[in-house]
Amino acid sequence: MNTKTSTSTIAIQPEADHPHRWLIEEPQGATSTGVCRICGTEKIFRNWLESSDFITNTEHRMAA
Ligand SMILES: [Zn+2]
Repeated sequence: MNTKTSTSTIAIQPEADHPHRWLIEEPQGATSTGVCRICGTEKIFRNWLESSDFITNTEHRMAA
């Protein structure tokens, strides 16, 4: 039996069936590359975009 899995995934990618678990790498200038630990999707995050979000992360890290 030929068990060759033919991936019929089209270029169109709808919302994933899971909440992406972004693993953020070291900031490279103004952006950071995040890789989903589940599906491996990469996404560029802009560090400078929302400073309020950045502060929230810092506070969260300090609280932990
Ligand atoms: Zn994912």
